[in-house]
Amino acid sequence: MRCILPLVAACGLWGQSLSFEEYEPRSTLVTEQRHVPRAKYPFVDVHLHQTRCVTAQCLDGLLKDMDALNMAVMVNSPVRGGGGARFREFSEAQKGHAPKRFAAFTNLEETGLDDPGYAERAARLLEDDIRAGAQGLKVWKHFGMGLKDAGGKRIPLDDPRFDRAFETCGRRGIPVLIHTADPKPFWDPMDRFNERWLELKTHPRRNASALDVTWETLIAEQRRLFAKHPRTRFINAHFGWMAHDLGELGRWMEKLPNMYLEIAAILGELGRQPRAARAFFIRFQDRILFGKDTWNTAEYPYYFRVLETADEYFDHLRRYQAYWKVYGLDLPDEVLRKVYYRNALRIIPGLDASAFPN
Ligand SMILES: [Zn+2]
Repeated sequence: MRCILPLVAACGLWGQSLSFEEYEPRSTLVTEQRHVPRAKYPFVDVHLHQTRCVTAQCLDGLLKDMDALNMAVMVNSPVRGGGGARFREFSEAQKGHAPKRFAAFTNLEETGLDDPGYAERAARLLEDDIRAGAQGLKVWKHFGMGLKDAGGKRIPLDDPRFDRAFETCGRRGIPVLIHTADPKPFWDPMDRFNERWLELKTHPRRNASALDVTWETLIAEQRRLFAKHPRTRFINAHFGWMAHDLGELGRWMEKLPNMYLEIAAILGELGRQPRAARAFFIRFQDRILFGKDTWNTAEYPYYFRVLETADEYFDHLRRYQAYWKVYGLDLPDEVLRKVYYRNALRIIPGLDASAFPN
């Protein structure tokens, strides 16, 4: 609703009835504001899903957008269940078009989960995909949250039937990009104390309170999975949904040297604790990777700004996820280089290091 002069009085009344969802105060704080349209260093985005882009025309458009952002390599993972033929289709098309600019992960087989030969078959199919160029394995959050056996029972993340596949990743030197659970408040009562209340209100399907598994159980299963396969590198997507508790996450990083972290969708958490987050990045600088998960070129500058600048008190990308303001982490150059490309070059096989500065 817009106010026009003769209606000023009525507009004043309207202000009285504003709801929290409508409240969007404009900050009066005057600070230095930087727009960072392009990353300071070429970077690898380890977490994207642009697998439908396979024609030369589409890929040329993608490359143009990547160049503008300084994205040197896009790592794409198929939508769940997209191993085998579906993996090969996008992987061959994208790498055939621009071999140095695209990398491809595959998925775990998830049919016939109750067959006695499942473990062996899943590992064999994964081996086939690795031979066909798979540079990593993506595990979706329905592992642990949605996958059920024939009897309708939830299959835990650390179920032994997946062991062979995860061992295969370790032996063949490909990382596992794994998304487990969701933000913790999705499981909490949707009351006035819930920090994600606005998101649950605008995105009611994200409410996880009716699920047959708790957040704590999922996180515990994931930690056991990582501990069970020490030779396999796990890239824990979205900071393992632990960015709100960097102390606890740090303790797990110490206990599990094969755990890596990826930053998609959690900058609202990091940006509201810039000093603790900066210290965390410095401490674990060899194990944090850049990932965004959603391909939206207009959103990348926000990521660059949070990582690179010391800007203060600016808006988060999505107000419904973080109604608070965020602050830049002002990461040291050495740390930035590792997050942007060095760590990815070290743990994802087949990337071309010559495209990056030393
Ligand atoms: Zn994803």
